[in-house]
Amino acid sequence: MICTGCSCLCDDIEFENGKILNACEKGFRHISGYKERRAKNIVNGKEVDVDTAIDKALEILKSTKKAVIYGLDTSTVEAQRIAIKISEKLNCYIDDNSSFCLGEFVEAILKKEVPTSTLEEVRDKAYVILYWGTNPYHSLPRHMSKFTYYPRGSKRNRGYDEDRFLVVIDVRKSEVAKLAKKNARFIKVENDIELIESFLKAIEGKASKYDVAGILREMKRADFNVIFGGLGLKYGLKGNYSYLYNLIKKINEFTPLFFIPAGFHSNMRGFNETLFEEVRAINKFSFLEKKSSPSFAFSELVKNENVDVAMIVGTDPLSSLPYEVSRKLLDMKKIVIDPRETITAKIAEVSICSAFSGIETEGEMVRSDGIRVKLSPIDKSEIDDVYIFKKILEGL
Ligand code: SF4
Repeated sequence: MICTGCSCLCDDIEFENGKILNACEKGFRHISGYKERRAKNIVNGKEVDVDTAIDKALEILKSTKKAVIYGLDTSTVEAQRIAIKISEKLNCYIDDNSSFCLGEFVEAILKKEVPTSTLEEVRDKAYVILYWGTNPYHSLPRHMSKFTYYPRGSKRNRGYDEDRFLVVIDVRKSEVAKLAKKNARFIKVENDIELIESFLKAIEGKASKYDVAGILREMKRADFNVIFGGLGLKYGLKGNYSYLYNLIKKINEFTPLFFIPAGFHSNMRGFNETLFEEVRAINKFSFLEKKSSPSFAFSELVKNENVDVAMIVGTDPLSSLPYEVSRKLLDMKKIVIDPRETITAKIAEVSICSAFSGIETEGEMVRSDGIRVKLSPIDKSEIDDVYIFKKILEGL
């Protein structure tokens, strides 16, 4: 089975005598608890059958010219594709969590602005492995043991303490930073832009605020190095993404260095890639204006009261967005499609219970490095995102 607990999409989950093997704690809870706290099909506070809930959702969607479809990062690619068609038919907005997560990094990769690679290549070849602003201990629990630092690779077969050089850049000594002992460096960063400038100065042989010359020397020893960039790096760059891409380009002039985003929902990259195939934008898209814009991010649309209906799929904005934004959700109509009962579902006009992607329904997801993975469910539910979205699309 493929675990859909995070964007590692581990493909080695097995079952033996009722036990789940190989999953991390997060994956174990994701798989073993899928029958708990399930959403109900509800219309205006009353439990109904699924088709009645879908009919009510349709009625709400047809009654507006200002709708947004939001979430979709745990839906399969097949479901995401239909949701995009619904947005097109409604001439409405569509956005996902990547607009405040790592969307910009995925976009740079899709536009080939930065060289990237696969996790298998990292496992087999990578020497310097740099985690920048991300702590896989929590967000991607098996990233280091399955793909990056710990496994022996075909060209890195002497063990991590000899054949890998670990670099962790973070604002605090995270669990992963504590591993940076032998053949490793931890940099406590206060300013990511200054750190990038230090790398650039070190390349020119000049002194700099952060001592990074040793890391560059290690990179030069290898023919494969990688940066895993997370949310800490994204927000540390303060919108100046070109600083990072320029640094990667400069380092590539003397040694190969790849970039892979790290730490997001199981199929966020799938959403970005699917929308990109359709409209050449990865998120924050308006089918009415036929463009992507920061003002079309879900949080901005809600904050500025630019939408009056939200179809929210597989995410819980009421519990994750700042209060000033989430309180405005109260004033609009909400259709929530989710396998779990969420706080947003409790205040929604319509709540529809969908299947867990990968556990109860098949389809495809895209791993954090862009590898497409076919899901192999252990249970079967007819009512999944594809069923619900197809019904909505047909009814529009
Ligand atoms: S690392 Fe992620 S995909 Fe792998 S078992 Fe854990 S939660 Fe599941």
